[in-house]
Amino acid sequence: MTRPALGWLCFLTALLTVVPACAAAPAGAAEHDLVLRGGTLYRGGFEMAGPGDVAIKGDRIVAVGEVSGRGTREVDVRGHIVAPGFIDLHNHTDEIYRVAGGWPLPGAIHQNRNFLTQGVTTIVTGNCGSGPAAPDAVGAWLDRVDSLPYGTNVAHLVPHGRLRREVMGENQGERADPHPTREELATMKAWLDAGMRAGAFGMATGLGYDPGSYAGTFELVALSRVLRPHGGFYASHTRHEGPDPVRMFASYAEAVTIGEQAGIPAHISHIKLAGRRSHGMTPEVIGLVEAARARGVAVTADQYPYTASSTTLAVLAPAEMREGQSAAPRYCEEGPGRDELRAAIQTALTDYVEPENVTISVYPWRWWWQGRSLADVAESKGMEPVDLAVQIACGRPGAGIYHAQNEDDVRAFMKRPWVATASDGTAMVDFVGRFAHPRLYGTFPRKIRRYALDEGVIDLAFALRSMTELPAKILGLPDRGRLEPGQFADVVVFDPDRLRDVASFERPGRHSEGIEWLLVNGVAAIEDGELTGERAGRGLRNPRRLVEAAP
Ligand SMILES: [Zn+2]
Repeated sequence: MTRPALGWLCFLTALLTVVPACAAAPAGAAEHDLVLRGGTLYRGGFEMAGPGDVAIKGDRIVAVGEVSGRGTREVDVRGHIVAPGFIDLHNHTDEIYRVAGGWPLPGAIHQNRNFLTQGVTTIVTGNCGSGPAAPDAVGAWLDRVDSLPYGTNVAHLVPHGRLRREVMGENQGERADPHPTREELATMKAWLDAGMRAGAFGMATGLGYDPGSYAGTFELVALSRVLRPHGGFYASHTRHEGPDPVRMFASYAEAVTIGEQAGIPAHISHIKLAGRRSHGMTPEVIGLVEAARARGVAVTADQYPYTASSTTLAVLAPAEMREGQSAAPRYCEEGPGRDELRAAIQTALTDYVEPENVTISVYPWRWWWQGRSLADVAESKGMEPVDLAVQIACGRPGAGIYHAQNEDDVRAFMKRPWVATASDGTAMVDFVGRFAHPRLYGTFPRKIRRYALDEGVIDLAFALRSMTELPAKILGLPDRGRLEPGQFADVVVFDPDRLRDVASFERPGRHSEGIEWLLVNGVAAIEDGELTGERAGRGLRNPRRLVEAAP
């Protein structure tokens, strides 16, 4: 649908559906632009605040509780939950813009539609080491968010992998010494400092990917020290999330060490235990984090509420055998290299994830494989799954979904007060979303619906805190994440009876239901359950960054 057509449809829908819910303001000057009346409030912390009103003027919340002044618009939200807009700490939408370069993108991407329908008002990009990293690219990305404008707010982390690639070049696995020279490290530090001055909130690594996998702990500590004067934090997709429990534990311990050595907060991205040999080790990993917290190291994590992950199809090969998103050529030519690769992938298909539990999700080169398991496609070709996996790893890149975690571990991490909710997703057009991981469409409603409201694994306020106040604190965003006067008016209103994630692994590209109102900087992106087409997001700049003194 074209943008103007969508706009008209939303306008008509708004006329038909919103008017009855809105009482006209009485005669006399209205004090506020909008007052949400009588909702059940979540203001922050571990408890719901009970019924109350929220008044908004311009882009700010101006009153919460009993609001006597009238609004130009008054909306009755009794029976609904009113909370700060959700903050997605782990998002990859910047990669779409980086890869597209100057090419036009669909409106659904600019609108970040699949996140608006989850109640998300802020996303954080630069994760897993990919995204804009060069000195001028960070500021340019935030400026672009402002000028589009974008559907949600965007905060950015300087991606370590991209930084390393731009400074040290491609094919780092072929270097005699994979570590940076003194000059290269100095350049990376200078670029990182420039990115922080441009408004980034920290640095994010992808140590399970080329080229992050070549970085030593000393390099990461040295870079993390650059973040300290800017109040930045270190976020890490760690080297190993399983299946080898020894390497998994060491990887999480490394993240803690880096934060501790650099004197900054450390954040573990999409915390998980992948592969049966690591399953059940939550007490050890939680113990590691909580011991560090007890001695004063700020360690946090984020998590998506699913037992499957999603990443490149080549991850069945160990990081040291990969180059970019495929296996390195020296492991693909017939001979001992390829035998070594085959043996490693066979181990992964035994210890990490079985062939029937790998779904080929994005593979445009053989589009008819999309949505089918590795085992299924191998069988239809009369191949061993391992040989198909080797062929894919040595070919063009694709993405897979890996059902390699266990539900008990997901729940154990979710109950910790230092674990935020995050999607690890990206803005999406629904046509392509049909093959994506459902987390792109359902992360936030799923956590509330399934784990809080239906199963009571955590309570509602605890779930809401994990997607509002906690991620705002991790980022260092003082003026978002709470429902309080003075905060920016990022506000979500949802019906607790109707809220649900609709996207499933069988049918992923479907929008969540039950978000009734969503305000981004005071502007309604969703009104009475319908997207308005408004894009009121802003590029967020780290308020604690050091900026050059004015001349
Ligand atoms: Zn990651």
